[in-house]
Amino acid sequence: MDFFQHAAYLTARVPRCKCEQHGVQTVDVPWGWKGSGFTLRFEALIMVLVGAMPVNAVARLVGEHDTRIWRVLKHPVEAAWAKLDCSKVETICVDEKS
Ligand SMILES: [Zn+2]
Repeated sequence: MDFFQHAAYLTARVPRCKCEQHGVQTVDVPWGWKGSGFTLRFEALIMVLVGAMPVNAVARLVGEHDTRIWRVLKHPVEAAWAKLDCSKVETICVDEKS
């Protein structure tokens, strides 16, 4: 995120190797998930901002395209769905559909 009118960039080279069998592989980093392009702290800021304003407004504020903001929002949901085991669920009750 920029500091007032000054553009700010934070870059870090992630160690990578090229394997003939698995292609290019990178290590997991503690500051973000693979493919995000953002730090976890920046994503936390985005989460707070979208609680108070539309995604398009957040995108303009942080200088990103709204599709990247939506990806930040969808990632934790998709990760939770991936871990969810519904193999023992037999019945689902729905009270309201709105
Ligand atoms: Zn390999």
